[in-house]
Amino acid sequence: MNLVTRAGLLTLAISCATGAAHADLGTIAFVGGRIIDGTGAPAIENGVMVSMDGKIVAIGSANNTPIPPDAQRIDVTGKTLIPGLINSHGHVGQVLGLESGHYDRGNVLRQLGLYARYGVTTVNSLGDDEYEGFAIRNEQDPLFIDHARLMVAGPVLAPETVEQARIAVNGVADQSANFIKIRVDDNLGRTAKMAPEIYTAIAEESEKRGIPLAVHSYSLEDAKATLAAGADFIAHSVRDTEVDQAFIQELKSRDVCYSPTLTRELSTFVYESEPSFFSDPFFTKEVDPAVMASLREPERQARMRDNASAQHYKNNALPMAMRNLKSLSDAGVKIAMGTDSGPAARFQGYFEHLELGMMVDAGMTPMQVIQSATSVAADCLGLDFLGSLEVGNWTDVVILDKNPLEDISNTKSLNQVWIAGNIVPSE
Ligand SMILES: [Zn+2]
Repeated sequence: MNLVTRAGLLTLAISCATGAAHADLGTIAFVGGRIIDGTGAPAIENGVMVSMDGKIVAIGSANNTPIPPDAQRIDVTGKTLIPGLINSHGHVGQVLGLESGHYDRGNVLRQLGLYARYGVTTVNSLGDDEYEGFAIRNEQDPLFIDHARLMVAGPVLAPETVEQARIAVNGVADQSANFIKIRVDDNLGRTAKMAPEIYTAIAEESEKRGIPLAVHSYSLEDAKATLAAGADFIAHSVRDTEVDQAFIQELKSRDVCYSPTLTRELSTFVYESEPSFFSDPFFTKEVDPAVMASLREPERQARMRDNASAQHYKNNALPMAMRNLKSLSDAGVKIAMGTDSGPAARFQGYFEHLELGMMVDAGMTPMQVIQSATSVAADCLGLDFLGSLEVGNWTDVVILDKNPLEDISNTKSLNQVWIAGNIVPSE
């Protein structure tokens, strides 16, 4: 698209009935804030970040970062800038209220808007993606976008023969899926697990097509076996036993990333009683009261309390996942923040902030957690020009009222979200 056409679209966008400014070609200077650039570098106090036509053109301390005279100045004194958050494992489009099966274009776009309002500016949807999701991924203009950027994997593949496996991978690859996604898990003994010859065929075919393979697994044994077969991304924590050196070495030598999804475990049991976040305005402002009422029903809570799987995830799987996260992070494995949000009662946007808190509870530092949700996640997803506030990258930035290095829950003090230099409408 040439610039003239872009300008035409810009006019259209600004004059449309929503009243929201969708795009802001031109120069913007964010002046006076604390800048955490996402790379792990120390925060810059009293910083300046200059964005031109959606990309960062200058960033540094106010002393030595000139502000172009024509720039629109945005005073962010006392506030903190972090890169837009990247969720390396989410899902979009299926759920409405607490019910699945509502996949359509409107629902995908609504949920991408929801993620964006929470500061999650990129979502890697790891499965259950349908035609409309691919279309939205294909048509998203990196510059004129007011919802979270979307990556898609297509259906979670579950072939029953090697031949079916190869056909399935090629079907998804022909649509240029960003990831191939499989599950190797017997759900605590309740379902059949994918056989090694099947996932080996899937891994071989994914490799041939140059598409990374993301694996949902539960046990260390399955995580190791799928890694040996060629898996490129571990989509959940190891939850049955402590990780060992062999696993750590394999992840590091093959540069494979690990997505903890601690809030996935949380979601299995947290509604056994009223969750504390039900009184958090940052949660309630986006949640349908009818959904909260359903989750408060005493019979539903009792079912969760009495559910052996839920109690296993609570008392065994989650504590093990948190211990393993600390071990892997300390060992230098790349941890990509991911939540598995999107299925019913895993609240998109809010759960990413809960996840950051749980990662700190597991023993990571707030700085490590911010890196995990920004530059490391971008690296793990193969995203260029995203994930850090550096010259040349898209101006995907979250402006916070409070400093998340002092307390990670300060990511909830969200003031504004910008994607490619466009402010995300607050509703
Ligand atoms: Zn998932």
